[in-house]
Formats: sequence, structure tokens, C-alpha cells
Amino acid sequence: MSDEVNPFESLQEQIDDAAAYLEYSTDVLERLKHPERVLETSLSVEMDDGSVEVFRAFRSQFNGDRGPYKGGIRYHPQVSRDEVKALSGWMVYKCAAVNIPYGGGKGGIKFDPREYSDSEVERITRSFAKELRPIIGENKDIPAPDVNTGQREMNWIKDTYETLENTTEPGVITGKAPESGGSAGRVEATGRSVMLTTREAFEYLGKDVENATVAVQGYGNAGSVAAKLIDDLGANVVAVSDSSGAVYNPDGFDARAAKAHKTETGSLAGFEGATEELSNEALLTMDVNLLIPAALENAIDETVATDVQADIIVEAANGPLTPRADDVLSERDVVVFPDILANAGGVTVSYFEWVQNRQRFYWDESRVNDELERIITTAFRDLVDTYERTDAPNFRTAMYVVAIERVVDAAEEGGIWP
Ligand code: NAD
Repeated sequence: MSDEVNPFESLQEQIDDAAAYLEYSTDVLERLKHPERVLETSLSVEMDDGSVEVFRAFRSQFNGDRGPYKGGIRYHPQVSRDEVKALSGWMVYKCAAVNIPYGGGKGGIKFDPREYSDSEVERITRSFAKELRPIIGENKDIPAPDVNTGQREMNWIKDTYETLENTTEPGVITGKAPESGGSAGRVEATGRSVMLTTREAFEYLGKDVENATVAVQGYGNAGSVAAKLIDDLGANVVAVSDSSGAVYNPDGFDARAAKAHKTETGSLAGFEGATEELSNEALLTMDVNLLIPAALENAIDETVATDVQADIIVEAANGPLTPRADDVLSERDVVVFPDILANAGGVTVSYFEWVQNRQRFYWDESRVNDELERIITTAFRDLVDTYERTDAPNFRTAMYVVAIERVVDAAEEGGIWP
């Protein structure tokens, strides 16, 4: 992974690339490139041994022209103000790309939760929820899970918020457990949109997904579900990795069995379906039909991009390619389908969860999956229409053109005030 690339600068460059195909004035573009506000806070939290530790935490509210801010909360040692700003901007354009009525936000706490006990993680989470309380709410800003957070953390945040506000407001956060108002289908939603994007992409490019070889970097929530569902399309998953390394079998293996092994043992190492163990770098440059980066941002930099042998990349992670890597891959005719479409299933089913919470009326999983499919396939059609209409150099730029037009249209409806 490249340490030098600032994801916030990557976001701004992606907006500039798309702006070349749009006729907006500098002031309009400037507004699209910076967050409206960023909360930066220090959490003083008591540890199990009675000592007190201080944690840096952030929430960026990037743009609210199309609806309440929406986006996940990440726990990771790499969390920084600029990372959170970038991720919140990507949420704006992701929600606009798939045309759901949200703006974009993102939050994070800079720490590795694996180094803390469950009760410490709970106190850290509740402390952050207390700081977030004035700026979140079902009509203001709706957090969700991201890297190293899940239903457990969402339930704690909801409980802290509702206790302090003396209310019941399940729509203040999404990605909750079903018992707390979570939606059917949410856990698998991101991987499902990666699968739907893959299916549409292969069809559009006139390629056969059946028996296509697939490598997946990052075998967490997004990556493992995408692998399983793409396996179900008849593709052949040949390599997957997590932070401890990669496993490979040229004949392919059962993606579900690899996930079960990781859940049971905590890592992919020793997975009996594999014939070889590889480095993470080797997985990214394997000769496969489809590569799915599903770990963190900047996984593929310019150097790695030069060696990528995949024909198609579908981005499950947010920002896995640096802008220079994007240029190299474009020149080398590797077709990239962008994160703001491919992983939008997570936020789309979060949207369904919020709708159900507000109506106090819950859908079954098949309705959730059908509605998700409708939204992703519509967005895919919008993407290819714009790609063909604008002559944009790649699908990322074309997707940003679609998204930026929607954000600017909404902003213009509101006008400038005061
Ligand atoms: P996760 O924590 O469940 O999984 C991340 C996985 O990546 C883990 O298996 C980890 O071991 C692995 N990993 C980390 N560094 C690696 C490396 N250098 N090489 C190989 N593997 C590595 O997280 P997740 O929720 O699946 O999120 C993954 C990505 O997808 C993030 O970029 C996140 O922002 C994005 N995303 C997730 C969702 C969601 O709903 N979960 C929605 C949209 C986008």
C-alpha cells in the first residue's frame, strides 16, 4: 500500500477529472471538493485497569444538498482527518450515483479495536456517540458500520443516543441487528452490489462470467460476500487474501469454505481448499479475469498497477486505486468499475433500513434484494449511457459526471443563502 497518497487529494482529483466533462464555474466546483464541516474530538476513556486513555475521533459532514449526511464509522490505526474527509466525499457521490436521497458523511476513531477488551471498545464507542449526539439524528446525519465496526457498535451508538435524547429513534443509525431495527439483507448488501456490478459489467463488455477467474484482496464483510455471490454466478474464485496473506488454487475453490475457515481459525492460512500460500502483493498482480480489491484505500498504487494482469477490476473497497494507478490501468486497457457504484449496496440497504425504521414497517429479504437489484442495475445503465454520451476516458469519470450533476442540480434548487 502506498503511504504517500492522501485519499482526500485523490477525491479532489477525481472530481476535477469529471469536471472536465461538465460546464460548472469554479465556485460551484470548489464547493464540491470540501466538507461542509468536520468534528474533531478527543475521547478520554477509562480502561479496565483504571487508567485513562485518550483517542482521536472524527466525523466529517461533506455535503447535505441531497439529504441527511450518511456514512460509516471506522475503527483503525490509520484513521486521520483527511481520510475521514475523503471517505465522506466519496459517500456524497456514491449516494448520488445510485440516486438515493442522502448527502455524505463519515467518521472514525484512530485505534485498533483488537488491542482492547469488549468492555473498553463499548466505552470508547459510547464516548464517541456522546460527542456525536448533537450533530446526528435521522434527519441530520445517519452513521453506519465500516471497517472494524458492525451491528454491535451500531446498537451501542443507538442506545447511547436514544438514552441521552430520551426518545426512540432507530433511524439515527443503520447496520443495526435485526432485533434493534436492522434490515434483512444489510450484512450481505455490499458484496451483493459488487456481484451485481460484476454481472452487468461482464454482460456489457460481452464477456462470459461463467468460469471467469477471480481474485479477491481482503476477505472481510465486503470481499467474502462478493466472492460467495460471484461464485454462485458460476465464476471461479482462485485466490483470496486477508491481512495475514493470500491463498491460491489455480483450479478454484469454494468461497464459502474459505470464509468458514477464516471464521473458525481467524485467518486464511492453512485453508485446505488452497494449494499455495502467496504474498498479498502477488495476489494483486495475478493473471485473472477479475480482480476485486476489498481491503483498504490505496491498495493498488502506480507500481502495482504496472504489473496488474487482470482484465477487469471491480472496486469493493473505497478508494483502493490511487489516481496514478487509475491512469496506468486506463492506459493498459484494464477496465475499472468504480467503488461509488460497486460497493453502493451497503448504503442502499442502509437507506432501506432507514425507510423501514421511519415507517415502523419491515420488509422480507427477497424484497430488499429485489429493490437493491433495481437500484444498482438502474445506476449501471445511467453509467454506461453517460460513458457513451460524454466520451469520458473511463467508467470512474463517467460515474462522477452522473453523480456531480445530481448534487449540483440539488444545490441549485436551494440557491445560495445567506
Ligand atoms: P472488514 O474489516 O470486514 O474486512 C477487511 C478485510 O481486509 C479483512 O479481512 C482484513 O484482514 C483485510 N485486509 C486488510 N489489509 C489487507 C491487505 N493489505 N491485504 C489483504 N487484505 C487486507 O471490512 P469491510 O467492511 O469488508 O470493508 C472493506 C472495504 O470495503 C473498506 O474499504 C470499506 O470502506 C469498504 N466498504 C464496506 C462496506 C460494508 O458495508 N461493509 C460498504 C461500503 C464499502
